[in-house]
Amino acid sequence: MPLSPRIKGWCPGAWRPMATGDGLLVRVRPPLGQLSRQQVVALCEAAETFGSGLIELTSRANLQLRGVTNESWPPLMAFLVEHQLVSDDPDAERQPQLMLAPAWQNGDDTHTIARLLQARGSELATMPGKVGIAIDAGEAPVLGDSAADFRIERSVEGGLLVRADGYALGTAVRDIEAAVEQLIRLTHWFVDSGGWASGRMRRHAAPLPDWAPADTAPAPPGEKLALGEHREGMVVGLPFGRVAAETLREAFFPASGSQTSISAVQVTPWRRLLLQDCDTLPAVDGLIRHNSDPRLAMDACPGAPFCEQASVATQPLAEKLSGWGETSVHISGCTKGCARRDPADVCLVGQAGRFNVVVNGSADSTPVKTGLSESEVVDFMRNFSENS
Ligand code: SF4
Repeated sequence: MPLSPRIKGWCPGAWRPMATGDGLLVRVRPPLGQLSRQQVVALCEAAETFGSGLIELTSRANLQLRGVTNESWPPLMAFLVEHQLVSDDPDAERQPQLMLAPAWQNGDDTHTIARLLQARGSELATMPGKVGIAIDAGEAPVLGDSAADFRIERSVEGGLLVRADGYALGTAVRDIEAAVEQLIRLTHWFVDSGGWASGRMRRHAAPLPDWAPADTAPAPPGEKLALGEHREGMVVGLPFGRVAAETLREAFFPASGSQTSISAVQVTPWRRLLLQDCDTLPAVDGLIRHNSDPRLAMDACPGAPFCEQASVATQPLAEKLSGWGETSVHISGCTKGCARRDPADVCLVGQAGRFNVVVNGSADSTPVKTGLSESEVVDFMRNFSENS
């Protein structure tokens, strides 16, 4: 097929890059949320050779390359396909995204379900592009705060359940095969009952069918991966979900000339990477190593000049405001609020080159102040931190 970018205004992929303020954005879905050491190194090379060198980790555990041009996109795609970072079949991207609970292991329930669902992917209904599936079958669900329309989770009784987004309870199933069967059936019910019009499960008003009763509770939620040592290796954070390819490569090949023992990387929806089989990691500027790092309390979308919807730069302000107490802060280039779904103590929202201030709310909540300059925002935050 001819290589020309199919530019779409929402839900980009690799085969459907999105035009943004700094060029095309190319989104890569790591298969099963994991990349081999060689694939990570290849991704770094791709970012530097064909894009701006920036790599982003999204809240749905995808990786994004920025700054790709119409000219560099065709060789980039050939490179990504060669390294099995992208399927050579553009239609493969149309299947719903599978998000796996991080730290899964070969042969555990999360991994087995994902493999089975991959094998039966063609049996899923064709659904709107943003619909996603969470496979969260560890001892306790950890993806409850991450966007997904259908979930396979551990139940409070220790079995498995299938749960539709928007419902606190799900349907108990007897085993892995039954869970996959139930999920496939649910996707067809979603489409047949008007899912294309509602777009997402949580906005879908049709009552669940009799064969999918919402009567079984998920197990109490588990903790997301803490930074630092982990039984599988080492967990590091990416400031505001972004890292330079050069920085990421340094985690594999430190400046000392030695190599670290990282065998693979699992992505997470929490702006964190699990570096598998990593026993020691030299200090690398640009990776967050400690749970006390103040940047972990901040959420900031790419902002200007990276997103065309933004009229303000977000991440430099986020760096400036990091460490001002316990306040959770969300800085958003516009009211869409891509970086954070939940309310924050303070949400700073760009509008016409200035900032509106929301307290205890989200980017689309009613602001308590409007039209602040960056220095006025800094003054506001100083007062807010001192008085809260
Ligand atoms: S919140 Fe607005 S400015 Fe920020 S990335 Fe999303 S659309 Fe762009």
